[in-house]
Amino acid sequence: GSTIGILGGGQLGRMIAVAAAQLGYRTHIYAPEESGPAADVSPRWTRGAYEDAAALAAFADGVDVVTYEFENIDPSAVDVLSTHGLVRPGAEALRIAQDRLLEKRFVSDLGGTTAPFAPVESLDELEEAIDDIGSRAILKTRRMGYDGKGQVRLSEPGDAVGAWNAIARQSAILEGFVTFEEEFSVILARGADGEVRFWDSAANVHEDGILATSTVPAGGRIAEQVEEARTLARKVADALGYVGVLTLEFFASAEGPVFNEMAPRVHNSGHWTIEGAVTSQFENHVRAICGLPLGDAGLAAPGAHMRNLIGAQANEWQAILADPANHLHLYGKHEARAGRKMGHVTRLVL
Ligand code: ATP
Ligand code: MG
Ligand code: MG
Repeated sequence: GSTIGILGGGQLGRMIAVAAAQLGYRTHIYAPEESGPAADVSPRWTRGAYEDAAALAAFADGVDVVTYEFENIDPSAVDVLSTHGLVRPGAEALRIAQDRLLEKRFVSDLGGTTAPFAPVESLDELEEAIDDIGSRAILKTRRMGYDGKGQVRLSEPGDAVGAWNAIARQSAILEGFVTFEEEFSVILARGADGEVRFWDSAANVHEDGILATSTVPAGGRIAEQVEEARTLARKVADALGYVGVLTLEFFASAEGPVFNEMAPRVHNSGHWTIEGAVTSQFENHVRAICGLPLGDAGLAAPGAHMRNLIGAQANEWQAILADPANHLHLYGKHEARAGRKMGHVTRLVL
């Protein structure tokens, strides 16, 4: 049996490890924490810093392929891994997807539409960017943001100082505020041979900056815009020589799909695929990185609805299980801190 190395030990790593086990692979987690959601299902766990080149090299030497569930890893760490083994997706995908400025430039160079954006390295540059883009805008740190963290909304020019301080004066981009009706994601798997398969695009609803629900099939504007968004997503994947699952988030605007951000990995808006698709995003990620043929990404039911269990919402698990139509997933996290993703529940439309 072969071993898959996974950087990061959270719930995405846990669900990758479950899919890997089903296909007969062992997994080995590398993460800075002592333990995490993936520890329950992965036979090996190495605690180490993402900056520790020697430890990363030893980790890569001991596995057959390295992948990641967390993109905020220093690209130099991925370069170390790449000299000691096969890393899928590769270092270039990681370098671009972990930096909002690079990802927006990359996608707009490939012909995608993004919100107007400008790099911000100082308060002066923020004020210039507001002059160009307008004050209805969002200031986002270039790196490390997730679940709406590391971003501040502006509404008037006088908001500049407060916003700049609120993100602790880090390298950032200012984005014009996009008026949209709905949000959706394109999730694809690209095999080692370049074959691409798309899952149905879910309509995603966020609450307090955190994904709340994903629903397929999406109707209306999303259904009209999916083809254009897929064409762009395929271009991105091909340009990166991507192997594995790739996610692009879009706003469905009156002018067409507007690219928001990408994730070089399996994605929360694809959790419905565990029950709702013929092959889940986790299984196809494992198949892709292991050089196996991809499974069918089509719907396994007429529709599916996924709801995240955030913080104390997970305490309702018994009530959720009382309805036999619900598929409950808990991530084994001990502390139900506010805003923390504790699990999710999926219902199929039958
Ligand atoms: P994720 O958890 O998806 O990684 P994130 O912290 O990386 O989130 P974004 O996806 O960039 O942040 O933004 C979070 C949400 O804020 C978006 O899903 C969208 O609802 C809203 N948003 C972000 N950028 C814009 C924009 N330019 N115009 C309007 N709304 C936006
Ligand atoms: Mg993000
Ligand atoms: Mg997002």
